[in-house]
Amino acid sequence: MAPTDARRAVVVGAGPSGFYAASQLLDAGFEVDLLDALPTPFGLVRAGVAPDHPKIKTVTRVFDKVAGREGLRFFGGVAVGRDVTPRELVERYHAVVYAFGTAADNRLGIPGEDLPGSHAATAFVGWYNGHPDHAGATYDLSREHAVVIGNGNVAIDVARMLVLSPEEITPTDTADHAIEALAASSVREVSVVGRRGPVEAAFTTPELLELGELSRADVVVDHADLHAVPDDAGRNVEVLRGYAARPPREDASHRVVLRFCWSPVEILGEGRVEAIRLARNEIVDGRAVATGEEMELPCGLVVRSIGYRGTPIDGIPFDAARGLVRNVDGRVVDEDGALVPRTYVTGWVKRGPSGVIGTNKKDSAQTTAAIVADAQAGVLAGPPIPDADEAAAWLLTRAPGAVGWDGWTRLDAHEVAAGSGAGRPRVKVVHLETMGRIAASGV
Ligand SMILES: Cc1cc2nc3c(=O)[nH]c(=O)nc-3n(C[C@H](O)[C@H](O)[C@H](O)COP(=O)(O)OP(=O)(O)OC[C@H]3O[C@@H](n4cnc5c(N)ncnc54)[C@H](O)[C@@H]3O)c2cc1C
Repeated sequence: MAPTDARRAVVVGAGPSGFYAASQLLDAGFEVDLLDALPTPFGLVRAGVAPDHPKIKTVTRVFDKVAGREGLRFFGGVAVGRDVTPRELVERYHAVVYAFGTAADNRLGIPGEDLPGSHAATAFVGWYNGHPDHAGATYDLSREHAVVIGNGNVAIDVARMLVLSPEEITPTDTADHAIEALAASSVREVSVVGRRGPVEAAFTTPELLELGELSRADVVVDHADLHAVPDDAGRNVEVLRGYAARPPREDASHRVVLRFCWSPVEILGEGRVEAIRLARNEIVDGRAVATGEEMELPCGLVVRSIGYRGTPIDGIPFDAARGLVRNVDGRVVDEDGALVPRTYVTGWVKRGPSGVIGTNKKDSAQTTAAIVADAQAGVLAGPPIPDADEAAAWLLTRAPGAVGWDGWTRLDAHEVAAGSGAGRPRVKVVHLETMGRIAASGV
């Protein structure tokens, strides 16, 4: 139990790391206000995890239980940096925990990167998942060839979404606008381009195996990419060898081509993406070294999936090089390494975009252990902290449309009901105004 003079915490971001931190703080005797910029909880479980992976999304049941615990209040639609400031939070809570994830992409830094038709994976993933910030976007899917840059699971998700058949996509919670656009898509071939080789690729084996089981898309791997790879190079390489040995599927109308050891050097086109120029690498001690060979791949869409990074918020020390909140094991520090009083961080914006959903539990445990230790050491005693009612009233003056857990429950029920007739888990509401209206009224 936390000492009575240090018992109110605010967690900023209701994704997995925020929920795990909230749960652990409740266990330690804190009262927790959980804020999210969106009216909906669950972060990337709702807006990142691929819609054709519904089992992974069932982790939200764990978070539902946390939300139902005494001492937790949810405020959806309150953004730090927009509605409230870090300084205001630290004046009102004994401990402030940032869990706001990494909403931006790493850039390639090559010419043509900003041509129409070249997109960040965050935006494309947010679009097909109905994230309100990306719902209004349009993607030109009128060309046959698309290129996804990157060799992680997100790159595979994007490639898979581009070749799934309507029968595979329609029963999911993919946003309606994306179901429609993907059904009309002319994309037939998606190249997934990696700078390094099959051994270095960050895909996990289940995601790689899934590519071999798509209803209408073949997966293509060039034998030559595997020649120099030792036999015992791991399960991924085994799977890739299997793909390379497979005869082309005659019934496949679509293809996912895994191209290893190519670096993008320029995105080409007059007014829009028409091709990408790639430079061949060889792998020396695990590093990609250019060989001088180049090729041009015609394409109408480029999706860059080379890692997510955090976006800085005024008043929170930020390591711009790494795209993370500056911290030592979850305690936020300034540029000189001095502790920022009563301020903590967890999840992707603490350690970077790595690991699975469960990895955030352990990460949050490190952060919350630091909070409990600081509480016990008396470090959390700060200015007079207003009580819970005052804090709630203050939050609601700053974000008058804020949605509580009951509001989210109404929106959730609405989405699930809309999906049930069509055999879908839910039909997502993607416009903030409509979300707010349904959350408020249940209509
Ligand atoms: C495309 C994709 C697919 C993935 N698929 C899988 C998978 O299949 N299996 C798996 O285990 N993991 C998967 N992951 C990883 C998993 O989603 C992450 O590990 C996890 O979501 C990170 O949790 P987080 O809480 O740190 O961040 P997030 O989930 O990003 O949550 C951050 C939350 O903070 C909120 N926020 C942002 N800014 C503010 C602000 N200023 N004020 C208030 N709130 C704010 C956001 O709205 C969001 O709800 C995937 C990730 C991506 C990107």
